[in-house]
Amino acid sequence: MISCKYDEIKTLMDYAVPDEERERALSLLEQFSGDKIALNLFHTFYSFLPEGLDDAINGLILIAASQGVFLLCATTGIDNYLYLVNQEQAEFLGNTAEGIWEEEVLRFFGYPNRAASISALEDLGRFSAYSPITMDTNLCPVCAAAQGELHTFGCPVEVCPWCGGQLTHCSCRFTITGKGSLKDEEDLDSFHKLLTQKGRVPFASNQRPTYPSDQ
Ligand SMILES: [Zn+2]
Ligand SMILES: [Zn+2]
Repeated sequence: MISCKYDEIKTLMDYAVPDEERERALSLLEQFSGDKIALNLFHTFYSFLPEGLDDAINGLILIAASQGVFLLCATTGIDNYLYLVNQEQAEFLGNTAEGIWEEEVLRFFGYPNRAASISALEDLGRFSAYSPITMDTNLCPVCAAAQGELHTFGCPVEVCPWCGGQLTHCSCRFTITGKGSLKDEEDLDSFHKLLTQKGRVPFASNQRPTYPSDQ
């Protein structure tokens, strides 16, 4: 299914993309039409062109990813731009030559300071192209947790540590909490606590084939 976000991006591209780059830009968009992360980036880029000039994204590079947050580089005819992206939104960070300014972002991805991010980003050739999440077997297809990372709480791919089933579908959450339903924040918090005590099952790529299990 093609999302309305995809249609919106296409409309924005009518105004932004130079004629001679149109075909390539559209085929790149097509390649990522099912990927929320990339669509969020495209949407932000074509809504707020970094230089305010006609431009088109001709490639996406994966710089880093952790806990469902992606640091991506969009290469264009003008420059290379950094974006911080998750399932909800994309935030423009600046061009790669100037590195990362935000303290919080630097810390999150393990760069000691902006200078370190500048030298890490100097040679973009050492990073690989970003591929749609659903095709990247190293990421949870729903919450984008990487191998060995915990899923976002509530992710349907998370395995139940008590019964080995699907945590959002098995009945363990009721037996463990002794409640018939988990209806508010407090119920969820107490379940989260018990789950953490038991030890949550991190994402592993062998969990992927079981998904989607409920259609
Ligand atoms: Zn997940
Ligand atoms: Zn269970």
